[in-house]
Amino acid sequence: HAPGGDHLWRSGRIVPSAEATVHVRSVGHASVSAVFEGVNAYRDDSGGLNVFRLEEHLTRLADSVRLSHLTMSYTVDELCAATVELLRRNEVRDDVHIRPWAFVEGNPIEQMVPAGAGCEVVIDCWPFRSRLAEPVSRIAAVTSWRRVASESMPPRIKAFANYHNGRLGNIDAQSRGADWPIFLDDRGRVTESSGATIGLVRDGVFHTPGLDCGILEGVTRDTVLRLLRDELDVPVREHDLTRADLHLADEVMFIGTSAEVLPITVLDGTRAADGVIGPVTTALREEYAAVLRGRRPRYKHWLTPVWVA
Ligand code: PMP
Repeated sequence: HAPGGDHLWRSGRIVPSAEATVHVRSVGHASVSAVFEGVNAYRDDSGGLNVFRLEEHLTRLADSVRLSHLTMSYTVDELCAATVELLRRNEVRDDVHIRPWAFVEGNPIEQMVPAGAGCEVVIDCWPFRSRLAEPVSRIAAVTSWRRVASESMPPRIKAFANYHNGRLGNIDAQSRGADWPIFLDDRGRVTESSGATIGLVRDGVFHTPGLDCGILEGVTRDTVLRLLRDELDVPVREHDLTRADLHLADEVMFIGTSAEVLPITVLDGTRAADGVIGPVTTALREEYAAVLRGRRPRYKHWLTPVWVA
């Protein structure tokens, strides 16, 4: 039994999940050009539920569709409304992960689906467990697989096909006792993990690879950069980083919708950041949680209410 909600949204209609099938013949072809999003909604202190930066995620979905040369017949506004409608219909009251995705419609015979082909859009959801209130950390290892080059298969969009590269890195990292990989590019620059952005702190300054390094345009990356600069008074720099920068850092972390802000305490089999969760990471996790849970009026515009308590 799949862990998702009883219903999902499929191309304009809310349908029972069990009935949301496709013909097996379409699966391989549709997968070549499928794209997706990962979004979270969080409970606030009064028992309401808010989706975090929904419009930014669905705009990125529209961008992914565009760069995949597919055509989608829904606007970002329509998809935002559909997401809220689905969460209400499934009576979701607790933290939840939302998975909007798009794939070629029909049963194409050709793998090389022509430019402009129409796509189906699905919005699904399943329970999410936030780790922001727990002192958790992860083990990271630089993988010997390189990140797919943006000149070949742009990682700045969320295409499922990119996650084959990510999975190779995961398996490699796990074979060496780590949780998640860190990918370098073909010039040895730090890019990202299989499902998260990388950030580090050295001498009180936050560093992260620039968007031109062949990484996903992370929504959490953007959130974190703003909170560091505007709320925590931590200077931020977006620029090229090497493996040595990771090892010399005072704090290293994964950043993303699912990772949230997740400290790395072991890197390449040695203790990173003295093996403890550092002060900037701790402050950032607290501030990020406060924003997500609706405790920062200044960032209310990032929250789309599902239920108002
Ligand atoms: N990089 C990759 C490859 C990812 O899959 C994700 C998760 N979506 C991220 C970075 C972080 O992006 P975001 O903060 O928008 O979730």
